[in-house]
Amino acid sequence: MYDILIKGGRVADGSGAPAFVADVALKDGRIAAVGPALPGEARRVIDATGRMVAPGFIDPHTHFDVQLLWDGAARPALEHGITCVVPGNCSLSLAPLRAGDRAAVVGMFQQIEEMPPAAFTEAFKWTWEDFPGYLAALRRNLKINVAPLVGHSVIRLWVMGADAARRTARPDEIAAMGDLLRQCLEAGAVGLSTSFVDTDENGRPVPSRFAAFDELDALCAVLGEFGRMLQIVPEFYDVDLTIARIDQLAELSLRHGIPTTFSPVFDSHLTPAAAPRALGRVEEQFALGARVWPQMQTRPIDISFSLLRPSLFFARLPRWVRVLRLPLDQRIATLTDAAMAEKMVADVGPDGGDQYMGALIVRGGDRAPAEIVGRTLRDIAAERGEPVARALISLSLEHGLDVAFLAASRGHDDTSRIGPMLAHRLVHIGASDGGAHLASFATYGDTGYLFSEFVRRSGALSLEAAVKKITADTAEIWGLKDRGRLQPGWAGDVVVFDPQTIGRGEERPVFDMPGGGMRYIRDAVGIDTVVVNGEVAWTAGAYTDAAAGAICLLN
Ligand SMILES: [Zn+2]
Repeated sequence: MYDILIKGGRVADGSGAPAFVADVALKDGRIAAVGPALPGEARRVIDATGRMVAPGFIDPHTHFDVQLLWDGAARPALEHGITCVVPGNCSLSLAPLRAGDRAAVVGMFQQIEEMPPAAFTEAFKWTWEDFPGYLAALRRNLKINVAPLVGHSVIRLWVMGADAARRTARPDEIAAMGDLLRQCLEAGAVGLSTSFVDTDENGRPVPSRFAAFDELDALCAVLGEFGRMLQIVPEFYDVDLTIARIDQLAELSLRHGIPTTFSPVFDSHLTPAAAPRALGRVEEQFALGARVWPQMQTRPIDISFSLLRPSLFFARLPRWVRVLRLPLDQRIATLTDAAMAEKMVADVGPDGGDQYMGALIVRGGDRAPAEIVGRTLRDIAAERGEPVARALISLSLEHGLDVAFLAASRGHDDTSRIGPMLAHRLVHIGASDGGAHLASFATYGDTGYLFSEFVRRSGALSLEAAVKKITADTAEIWGLKDRGRLQPGWAGDVVVFDPQTIGRGEERPVFDMPGGGMRYIRDAVGIDTVVVNGEVAWTAGAYTDAAAGAICLLN
């Protein structure tokens, strides 16, 4: 007797081979059989006629570290067909972390990932300091599978305390970091993450950026004992620096026998040679035997913001960032000061901000009047007879700052260029940043968008190739044991979807973070059923009570 029998669907098994009509049977958390018209009874039969049946999708770049503690499904990732997530990216994880260092790491998560403070104080209890303790806390209510990275910044903090964000490490400290990393890897960490670009909430570089190369090299030697992953955020805004990092990763990969990955790789019409050059260097390094996987996201860069909180949109305008960090009453007072507003407008550019902000679209907000929703800021500014950046400030002030703007398609939006790159044999599809950047954009639905935009609309990838990219390829790159393929004996992670409609819903704000905090999400489209480790976790538009998620075993 099977637990579940998925009947009559077209199976894309993760191998990339042409899909075939078959039944998929599950028992005891695993795939029991795949074949045409399987005989035998099942406790639950799912009719998949006209549907695709594929291995669960794997998202290799997320920041669900915190959310998983109160939401074991990493909503809405799971309903998009994601059955496994990798948190702990970009040098940040929640363990190993001493109680006294929690505030520092929370500050970094707030700055880099835009998570509200209440997310760290209201929804769970800090019960751990070490990595096994964190995994134990996660396991309590896990609905999705997790392959957690450990963050270089927190390893540094544990060993060096406040000096972690001041200086390079002494040899004894490097040795202690290596021992600590080894404990994390023994407990099940999938690898180490580090960052060369991120800053904390005070604009200071995160601890990992104070490491000299010998420190990273020593930590990679420990990764080499296990053959596990090094993930980095390179200086992605500068292709020459990125290429230097690719070479450095290749050196580490070859010397220690480890896979490495970097993200993000963005394509932009402003620097059209950048992504192709980076991919060209990746090809050269793979040809020499190194493993340096470039991660590329499927979705275009859309950023939403209001003046209610700091945003990525202002990253290159320090004065704006400083003002937006002020408490609300002071912020409003500062923006109301005409001399200050004039300086802020001048900062944006000699054109009054027309080029940088003119195409912004008013997308709403609780107090934005309906007649301006959907119009461009350029248009509104012209009507008001104000420079564009000035209009943004005045319009916001008139409505208690609660006017949201959308900066649409700020790069990575040319399907004819992105499609062939996503299809490239060495490009690793990922970099969703799931669970992060809550107030800027929805980090969900990238897998649906892969199918709607790059399989159905442009045809850059076959459906089977797209499935392989986000299942078997990902599992192989990261060394996830028995995941990413529908074959007997492998983990029972399955997604049933409609190939004609799979996609992503419209981006919309919800207020479901602890303390009522806002985030943008997208609903799933075309996903019928998601099975995690042999139990139906999501079906017919709703979550079930199943909590069969696990910390992934590694090869
Ligand atoms: Zn990240």
